[in-house]
Amino acid sequence: LTDRLSGVFDGLTGKGSLSEKDVSSALREIRVALLEADVALDVVKQFIADIKPKAVGEDVIRSVKPGQQVIKIVNDGLVEMLGGNEEAQGLRIDNIPAVIMMAGLQGSGKTTTTGKLARRLKNHDRKKVLMASLDVYRPAAMHQLKVLGEQIEVDTLPITDGQMPVDIAKRAVNAAKLGGYDVVILDTAGRTTLDEQMMGEAAQVAEFANPAETILVADALTGQDAVETARRFNDRLKLTGLILTRMDGDGRGGAALSMRAVTGLPIKFLGTGEKSDGLEVFDARRIAGRILGQGDVVSLVERAAAELDEEKTKRMAEKMAKGVFDLEDMAEQFRQLQRMGGLGGIMGMMPGAKKAKAAMDSQGLDDKVIKRQEAIILSMTPKERAKPALLNASRKKRVAAGAGVHVSEVNKVLKMHKQMAGMMKKMGKGGMKQMAKAMGA
Ligand code: GDP
Ligand code: MG
Repeated sequence: LTDRLSGVFDGLTGKGSLSEKDVSSALREIRVALLEADVALDVVKQFIADIKPKAVGEDVIRSVKPGQQVIKIVNDGLVEMLGGNEEAQGLRIDNIPAVIMMAGLQGSGKTTTTGKLARRLKNHDRKKVLMASLDVYRPAAMHQLKVLGEQIEVDTLPITDGQMPVDIAKRAVNAAKLGGYDVVILDTAGRTTLDEQMMGEAAQVAEFANPAETILVADALTGQDAVETARRFNDRLKLTGLILTRMDGDGRGGAALSMRAVTGLPIKFLGTGEKSDGLEVFDARRIAGRILGQGDVVSLVERAAAELDEEKTKRMAEKMAKGVFDLEDMAEQFRQLQRMGGLGGIMGMMPGAKKAKAAMDSQGLDDKVIKRQEAIILSMTPKERAKPALLNASRKKRVAAGAGVHVSEVNKVLKMHKQMAGMMKKMGKGGMKQMAKAMGA
């Protein structure tokens, strides 16, 4: 994605706000990227349709390129769609004993995840947990859970042959009440494909046990199939959340977005390994980053936005609107640039940076030059900074001596300021590109 998008960046130029054309071309690439990340087509379409009006007309943040800003907007949109702006949702386990029912296809990781949740509830939440396997079709499955329980030191319901799933569920809830357990996790039987008997059985268990949480476990690597599974289970059971397993594999996270979009259910945890500690609390930001593969750009734009102190920006905009842009303002621009890690730091994070860096180098603009120019401004009195016209020959000499430079360097700064002031007045807003031009002149 990074390579493809740097192509888009080359075509975008610094303007006051994001144009329809900028946004459309960037979104075309993002559409392909989302599909490659295994996001379902209808989800991609909806997402692009939602994001476009949000991006068009948005003010361009100084010092980032429009294409990058589109990515930031897309990233924020993904985070929101993944439920990142909701309050953290753990498991609901207030009514004791709380029943957690695990549903999903065979092989999706239900039993493994049952163990992981039990371990977390025990160690992290200090709960007393009972696990029960309702998989009456595969005796090995019941044994698997028992062994798992021994490993993580969590009790399992003793195995009794010849019972129906709903009977085992009843026995488990009773045992939990009698034994003073906080949580019962029911590991239901799965099939390799969606079938009516499995769904009916699960629905029956759910009706009896009235689970506080009914969690669908789905294999992230199965992509579109996982989405279809989620849709079908959600139609039949009152699911309360999702857990995606095999996120340690090389799936790109698109399934997470699709499943969330299709079901509207929160993704609670991610399975990240075969062992019982391979469980992570779902983090929308990380998944959005994984889908976009643009983590660095996103953090760059975030930094740029944060560093441009709102108050200062506003004040400067007001001054500029009145046609005032003094040397103090110019020094402030330099400082902002340096806070962001200097030109080198910013450039290093941008796709397509090499080209831009070469252009700046050819204009003799680097961090050293910027530092020197700032030093010159600092050698002036506040009055001189506010009113550069005061700087006659003798004052210039004094400033040059103070900064340890030749008078011609002082003249350069003044000339640059004049150009920038003129430009700022015209634009009302300054992009880095324009600033760079003025600096090199
Ligand atoms: P169930 O049939 O739904 O109960 O699935 P299991 O819990 O028995 O898991 C099936 C296989 O997937 C086992 O080999 C697990 O070790 C493996 N598995 C489960 N979750 C994960 C995960 O998050 N990452 C990886 N790499 N493997 C997993
Ligand atoms: Mg199982």
